[in-house]
Amino acid sequence: MTSNLFDLTGRVAIVTGGNTGIGLGMARGLANAGATLAIADRNSDNAAQAKAELEKFGHSVLALTTDVTDTKSVAQMVVATLGAFGRIDILVNNAGISISAPIEEMALADWQKVIDVNMTAPFICAQAVYPAMKAAGRGKIINIASVLATLGAGGAANYASSKGGILQFTRALATAWAADNIQSNAILPGWIDTDLTKRAKEIRPELHDRIIGRVPAQRWGTPNDLAGAAVFLASAASDFVNGAALTVDGGFSIQG
Ligand code: NDP
Repeated sequence: MTSNLFDLTGRVAIVTGGNTGIGLGMARGLANAGATLAIADRNSDNAAQAKAELEKFGHSVLALTTDVTDTKSVAQMVVATLGAFGRIDILVNNAGISISAPIEEMALADWQKVIDVNMTAPFICAQAVYPAMKAAGRGKIINIASVLATLGAGGAANYASSKGGILQFTRALATAWAADNIQSNAILPGWIDTDLTKRAKEIRPELHDRIIGRVPAQRWGTPNDLAGAAVFLASAASDFVNGAALTVDGGFSIQG
């Protein structure tokens, strides 16, 4: 047993969607625990700011322009990370989008886009990092689902379906790669204040107070509230945790 079960010194993590929101919150936690980071997003402007912030923890950060739905782009993400740091120990499949509409009005393209980013991309990324993790004899995959993975969400059927799918994919990964000493787990965030939920609040201004009223913690979560869960699932502290779903929602989903 190491002296600090949560120490990530010498470990290399890729965080998709790490330039903002929950991804950046988790990246801060991983960097603070000693990990070296690659963040992978489409928007290089945000990435420059996130890179500068994360480098204050003391390690150089690779900010990659990546579209996680594109197999070639993801292959480049893996090659660039291995080229810069020589290993990949941790993959956080965090990049996600939401396009809400009533089911009867939802465009097929909007259904498909959400499934592509939230559910198919984690499959693409996991497949791409597998050879490096298998060769190293260890790995941690963390998939960001949502409390909506297990709740009815009539106005966001594409999103809830993608998150239910990623939860089940996590369990499939956990069984498939356990023998390679790769643990795969999911985090189910509740309502977290980010650009994604800011957009939802612009459409439904009453959402802000409604959520505070429904969350036992009586507040929205912040991206940094996810940092501890990410460090736990990325570290030796979770070596016998595999296929789990860790809810981080201030008690929202156990509310009667
Ligand atoms: P944000 O909108 O703040 O951030 C989403 C991130 O994903 C951005 O960095 C964005 O970067 C990136 N991204 C989107 N599409 C792609 C793509 N095709 N390729 C690469 N990167 C992409 O959202 P959150 O931080 O709120 O969400 C992060 C994750 O947490 C998502 O999976 C979301 O579903 C999940 N979640 C969020 C909750 C919340 O309340 N906020 C609750 C439960 C789960 P760029 O645009 O530069 O590509």
